[in-house]
Amino acid sequence: MSTALPLVDPAPPASKRGRTTPPRHLADLDLAGRRAAVAALGEPEFRAGQVSHHYFGRLVRDPARMTDLSPASRERIAAELLPTLLTPVKELSCDGGTTRKTLWRLHDGARVESVLMGYRDRVTVCVSSQAGCGMGCPFCATGQAGLTRNLSTAEIVDQVVWFAGQAVDGLGPDVPSRLSHVVFMGMGEPLANYNRVLDAVRRLVAPAPEGLGLSQRHITVSTVGLVPAIERLAGEDLALTLALSLHAPDDDLRDELVPVNQRWKVAEVLQSAWNYAARTGRRVSIEYALIRDVNDQPWRADLLGRLLANKLAHVNLIPLNPTPGSRWDASPKSVEREFLRRVRSAGVPATVRDTRGREIDGACGQLAASENRPQLENRGLTRLGERGKAEQ
Ligand code: SF4
Repeated sequence: MSTALPLVDPAPPASKRGRTTPPRHLADLDLAGRRAAVAALGEPEFRAGQVSHHYFGRLVRDPARMTDLSPASRERIAAELLPTLLTPVKELSCDGGTTRKTLWRLHDGARVESVLMGYRDRVTVCVSSQAGCGMGCPFCATGQAGLTRNLSTAEIVDQVVWFAGQAVDGLGPDVPSRLSHVVFMGMGEPLANYNRVLDAVRRLVAPAPEGLGLSQRHITVSTVGLVPAIERLAGEDLALTLALSLHAPDDDLRDELVPVNQRWKVAEVLQSAWNYAARTGRRVSIEYALIRDVNDQPWRADLLGRLLANKLAHVNLIPLNPTPGSRWDASPKSVEREFLRRVRSAGVPATVRDTRGREIDGACGQLAASENRPQLENRGLTRLGERGKAEQ
């Protein structure tokens, strides 16, 4: 059955709300594009390399600190290629400063969030790819508020560069100082903003000074299951990790929890995931938010195990983030353990995701809940709005 859900790259609803396209930024362009852009400003082409080295190599976002450029060049380049895209509105941290969340205001007033998580062996940033989301998952606050607009390539990259700079400044004694992993699991459905997300990925993996030089394998792109976009991603010659937010192994329930399932059913979306695994050699991460008495029954664990047995897949069970007043609740630990046991007994690798950042509404799924609450309340969606976003 076809739905009215937005597919790949829906036209931004900017005009209606007076929103405008984000200004062009260095990170929107590849190196050749940057050379052409500085030449158009009357600057020598090597300036593109200089500025790229500052931004991607030294993680300097402030043009005033690019002191090897003359003041006049700096001013021209700052105006044309280094506009302020993200303004921090609120910064929160927990876990001794190793988990940090930043709420950003974009140039047009839209708001998104990103979260940094520092571990002993890696530093991961979770970025937003859209302001809001059009996928309408009922347990997700972001989904209830709807899609505002797609983020530009540079708006995505700049979230990463900001946090890479924070990692260099130091997150804690046992945390590496280099940001190593990026997960597209913040606000939005990344594959619904396909071209900009893929351009952002290319900036992240290109060696400095063209990009940040991250490993392709350390980048995870999540999706609720936009099958044509998954197929397209499989052909990109990139070894990214695909995270499929399944949340239910049967169409009856998944039609409700993940409305895009009305368009692409479980069997079809899993087949596209296996095609992705076959073409890239990458194990697919199957995301499953455990919701009490909704999708946590033993028979669903067994069905999930049967669907995934002998496939290149790993199950990531996500305890639903608790939010006050919500009727959607995390499964009890005993139920979670039994679900995990049953999936594993089918021979499928499975783990339970840690819930870092809960205190600051930064755990997966909570990004929009706190900030969008007044808006949701106005729309009579208080209970839904307090559920938090459980997808990631
Ligand atoms: S769970 Fe993910 S895809 Fe679904 S509405 Fe929320 S942000 Fe969008």
